[in-house]
Amino acid sequence: AAAELKERLRDMDITVLSGAEGVLQIASEKVDIAFNALVGIAGLGPTMAIVASGSTLALANKESLVCAGHLVMERVKEKNCTVLPVDSEHSAIFQSLGAHRHDQIKKLILTASGGPFFGKTEDELKHVTAADALKHPNWSMGNKITIDSATMMNKGFEEIEACWLFETRQEQIEVVIHRESILHSAVEFEDNCIIGQLSLPDMRLPIQYAATWPDRGAASWPALDLCKVGQLTFYPPDRTLFPCLALCEEACRKGGSMGAVINGANEVAVELFLKGKIGFTDIYGLVNGAVKHCSFIQNPTLEEVFAADREARSFAYQWGGSILK
Ligand code: MG
Repeated sequence: AAAELKERLRDMDITVLSGAEGVLQIASEKVDIAFNALVGIAGLGPTMAIVASGSTLALANKESLVCAGHLVMERVKEKNCTVLPVDSEHSAIFQSLGAHRHDQIKKLILTASGGPFFGKTEDELKHVTAADALKHPNWSMGNKITIDSATMMNKGFEEIEACWLFETRQEQIEVVIHRESILHSAVEFEDNCIIGQLSLPDMRLPIQYAATWPDRGAASWPALDLCKVGQLTFYPPDRTLFPCLALCEEACRKGGSMGAVINGANEVAVELFLKGKIGFTDIYGLVNGAVKHCSFIQNPTLEEVFAADREARSFAYQWGGSILK
């Protein structure tokens, strides 16, 4: 399609780029603000290129930080790059922080919808299908992130993302199940004051806020009617039923190549689950297997991060192949 488009536009002053190389090339251009909304570790190279270019980075690709947060943030500091979170929870934390001092943060409260399988038993989870998992209660998102949301892997990734973005320790993050998806996350300060961001679940708000920051633009989406919502509920997450969350929390504390291994194996596991080749609870089994099997490097270079990703993927394909239904 790119070749055809190039041909059709040949008389115009328009450059057509395509493929991973084209993405890298466009990411390397110095612009006012670059949005990275790629899915998976495919976003890591472009994230590094955007930071290096001196553009402001609006980051929707959490996997960049999950796989190589230490390298991304080191480069961000070196280049004095502005990073604006697009992930709704991180945008909420960013908005709640405002001008408050970083050393007065007690903890970050990361809300989770709980996904389509909240309240299900272990046995029920073994038999859910990709179609069941794709019915997210509040957000309309891509397939990969919807499955990650169902396993709570997404929330685990977001803990790692938050630790890098806001320079906090994993122990300072509290994950709270909030079924209504109205409070998008919050910050608790040392005086026990909690400041959070509320709105209807709609990605247009965090996306626009990243684009207009530090200003706000008018909304082209509906306003939140508190009386209509009536009540907001909160529960602690069940880490036994959703062990991917605990696995990511371990990666958050341990650092190194563990995030890249989890992410690589998870990308394969989600693909196999979507194709109906493995069961829902096999996703954790496969990712945990990869963590146990793959080598661990405490302070990997970018090359070693990509190598850890490849090792995890090949393990996941082999192991996934052996338990195919
Ligand atoms: Mg999110």
